[in-house]
Amino acid sequence: MGTYLRTETDSRGDAVDYSWYCSEVCYSDSLRKEPPTETFERGGRYPCGAESDSPDYCATCGAPVGNPLTDEGERYVREYVLDVDGAYRDAESVTRRTALKAEYPWIFEAQDTRRVITESEFERIADNRVMIQLSRDPRYRNAENAEDQAQAESDIEAEIVASMENEFKVR
Ligand SMILES: [Zn+2]
Repeated sequence: MGTYLRTETDSRGDAVDYSWYCSEVCYSDSLRKEPPTETFERGGRYPCGAESDSPDYCATCGAPVGNPLTDEGERYVREYVLDVDGAYRDAESVTRRTALKAEYPWIFEAQDTRRVITESEFERIADNRVMIQLSRDPRYRNAENAEDQAQAESDIEAEIVASMENEFKVR
């Protein structure tokens, strides 16, 4: 594999266009006479190592070359692959969406940022939070009888455990 870049320059030698190729085969299939300007082991990279606001594609076969993306570029890829607007359902777009997802898998991995704790820590924190909440929750404080109070306590406990599951992951 490898990525091949050919930079087109104007008469003053300034870069005016970049063509990417996803492999040596695609470079030779392009029938270019000149050698590539640069080659990369994996993924493309603009000169100076710049990240790009959009993915680049092989000029021969259309496969994404895996160039590094800015946050803006990652947002673009996410929205394109997930097809949030329902605009990319034709065969070519579907193929491209599949290829982009394979090329940038981390964009689609939901990140679990919950704090990892032990089960006994979870229970201790839950007990504390339930105690605090019982002391100020009107459903418990203003309960008219023991039965209502027990019901309020179990509701509050369930609510606290549910919210803690978004915050903590038990290991
Ligand atoms: Zn290619």
